[in-house]
Amino acid sequence: LATLMDVNFAEVISKCMSLGLMVSINQRLDAEVIELVANEFGYDVEFIDMEKQMEMEEEEEEDNEEDLLPRAPIVTIMGHVDHGKTSLLDYIRSANVVAGESGGITQHIGAYEVTLANGKKIAFLDTPGHEAFTAMRARGAKVTDIAVIVVAADDAVMPQTREAISHAQAANVPMIFAINKIDKDGANPKKIYEQLAGMNLLVEEWGGKFQSQELSAKKGLNVDILLEKILLEAELLDLKANPNKGASGTIIEATLDKGRGYVATVLVQNGTLKQGDLVVSGQHFGRVKAMFNERNKRVDDAPPSTPVLILGLNGAPQAGEKFKVYVDEAEAKEVANRRAQILREQGIRTKKHITLDEIGRRLALGNFKQLNLIIKGDVDGSVEALTDSLQKLSTQEIVVSVVLKGVGAITESDVLLATASDAIIVGFNVRPSAQAARLAEGEGVEIKLYSIIYNAIDEIKSAMEGMLEPKI
Ligand code: GDP
Repeated sequence: LATLMDVNFAEVISKCMSLGLMVSINQRLDAEVIELVANEFGYDVEFIDMEKQMEMEEEEEEDNEEDLLPRAPIVTIMGHVDHGKTSLLDYIRSANVVAGESGGITQHIGAYEVTLANGKKIAFLDTPGHEAFTAMRARGAKVTDIAVIVVAADDAVMPQTREAISHAQAANVPMIFAINKIDKDGANPKKIYEQLAGMNLLVEEWGGKFQSQELSAKKGLNVDILLEKILLEAELLDLKANPNKGASGTIIEATLDKGRGYVATVLVQNGTLKQGDLVVSGQHFGRVKAMFNERNKRVDDAPPSTPVLILGLNGAPQAGEKFKVYVDEAEAKEVANRRAQILREQGIRTKKHITLDEIGRRLALGNFKQLNLIIKGDVDGSVEALTDSLQKLSTQEIVVSVVLKGVGAITESDVLLATASDAIIVGFNVRPSAQAARLAEGEGVEIKLYSIIYNAIDEIKSAMEGMLEPKI
């Protein structure tokens, strides 16, 4: 503060003392004191809310309806381990190499695009699983239009299948079910549909709204039909973007490459990214020196829904960080540098998440209408009982929404989901893993542990009563 005001630090300290504050030279002052002291020296103080600032900078001007054109869907594949996510991604990528481009060795860049025989395109995020999906969401990125949930027909709906479904639902992303491994002897797709129906997920064949496709990722059987169904879903979603403006989108992966410097895979979500464009992402920026697709082929421009690997940034932004093209170089530098400085001073930006204690305050502030909970317990019976009782706490004013329930310890994936959905985690006779506890602390996610169901209900009920809006 002394440096900013260009006065001697001793003067600041003595001013604090005259205000009745005993401070030392390396003490952090709170906002009120800073304001008081600065005023004494004749300065006005303006506090910058880093988060708001970045949100404002990342915000885009609305496009005019007539500038919008259809764009390809962006798809994430999720499901239980070993049910065939990687096989499906690999088959789709190898089977759909456009004529003339075949032969190129593909490299994993985090996302790829396929062109179907009818010329239509689909972009796939190439890190299967709901953890990656939710980690991105936890950073505020919304990059998936459609989730394909893979379930092995010779197995069953498994814990991670349920998790994947919950994560997709929490994100409001439509799902298509891929019933895989139908080439295997023990394959029984009917059983899977039945289990899904038990979760209130009816596939179309059963009169429900969810598309599904029986297939074999290994043999490539019916994968083409799945792709058609993805396109159909995309049509319903009416996905659009404006290709005729500066690009914006999300970082999928970024690393430092020995030969090429910083490389980043970006997903263009609006506008068109061109070689030479000035890109800012978080605290990093740079001109796009070159762009490549996953076959290592140079591309000159990347329209909406295209994943490309770019060279030229001066650092490696985090996956899930947004990026935007700037026209004015001085402005781009200033934005990036200011963020770097604030990050240095404030540490990594963390969003404040809901806690039981926060509820009353949030309600007073505005319209807190939904309490999101993640419920984990030691046995199915108690999880169901707790879920039921907590959901029943819903009132006309506040809905209790259970974004995920499950048996087992509280995992990192649960914490990520809580971050992405602004949820409180309720553990019944279970504890968080060490990593999960650390992540929760870093992200500011509240974990409440109980061993008596009544206590959980009682405490959450009281918190909710504190948040009831006064009736007029
Ligand atoms: P992931 O963990 O979900 O990514 O699953 P993988 O794609 O690694 O597949 C797990 C195993 O199942 C591998 O041994 C695959 O070869 C096998 N697999 C995947 N899809 C099929 C299929 O359609 N039929 C058969 N028979 N095996 C499959």
